[in-house]
Amino acid sequence: MSLTIGVDIGGTKVGGGLVDEDGRIHATALRPTPADDTSGVIQAVSEVVEELRGEHEIEAVGIGAAGWISADRSTVMLAPNLSWRNEPLRDKVAAAIGLPVVVENDANVAIWGEHRFGAAQGFRSSVLYTVGTGIGGGIVVKDGLLRGTNGVAAEIGHMRAVPEGRVCGCGRKGCLEQYASGRALTQAAREGAKAEPDKAALLLDLAGGDPDAITGKEITGAAQQGDAVALAAFDTIGYYLGNSAADLVQLIDPGVVIIAGGVVDAGDVLLDPVRKHYAKALAERVDLPVAEIKAATLGSKAGVIGAADLARHLT
Ligand SMILES: [Zn+2]
Repeated sequence: MSLTIGVDIGGTKVGGGLVDEDGRIHATALRPTPADDTSGVIQAVSEVVEELRGEHEIEAVGIGAAGWISADRSTVMLAPNLSWRNEPLRDKVAAAIGLPVVVENDANVAIWGEHRFGAAQGFRSSVLYTVGTGIGGGIVVKDGLLRGTNGVAAEIGHMRAVPEGRVCGCGRKGCLEQYASGRALTQAAREGAKAEPDKAALLLDLAGGDPDAITGKEITGAAQQGDAVALAAFDTIGYYLGNSAADLVQLIDPGVVIIAGGVVDAGDVLLDPVRKHYAKALAERVDLPVAEIKAATLGSKAGVIGAADLARHLT
């Protein structure tokens, strides 16, 4: 059995898994992510690796991190959540643990996991949206990750959805992330509940009567029970996601479009409007085969499995 370790550096926790060549996780380990502390994060990654390593023969370690990763997969050029700038993560971790290391963007490791063992398996090209607080993106073309010249390709969340629209954390205006993320969903639901409280009775009830206390959990629960404002909020983000996917279909012609991330746990109340607006956006095109929109199947494990598999293919 060939074993590698995949590590996912998230905003709150560093999670790792001991993974075999079939994408099966044999053991997991977890540490809290130290805030604003590079050496602390490297320490946490090393501890996770050592715990999983035990007596096993490990070939390599793959790390997924949110942010812009250099094309040679060694350096975190910018990680907004960790305040990292040009951090040579690969070499520092490799020095600490004495194993080959590869670093990759978190959405890239997620699509790689889905491509090898999940919802994109069997398709040579695919597109993935991770819809969480923000929006991440990954693209596989001809069985390879689309990394670009500088390593920062496939930032789907920062493609423009609305010219001169809302200001985005990346510095541009009108990015998809500002209209179709979990944060945008919450914003739409709160605004809807304030404007039309009668139609948001269930949603407001779940939130204790306070529109500003509405979170994704209440929106999903209310939408699944037919609350009009909650459903409208999902329809709003579905509109932007569906239209974005229709554009990417013109560009990539993928075999499948995958929606991953925390918001996809909502299931059909999210996927139905995405599919509706996607079909609408392509309806007037000449009749050609078109990729299906599917939910990711590996869930939160995709990153660990994908990172471990990328590490295997490095050696
Ligand atoms: Zn942006």
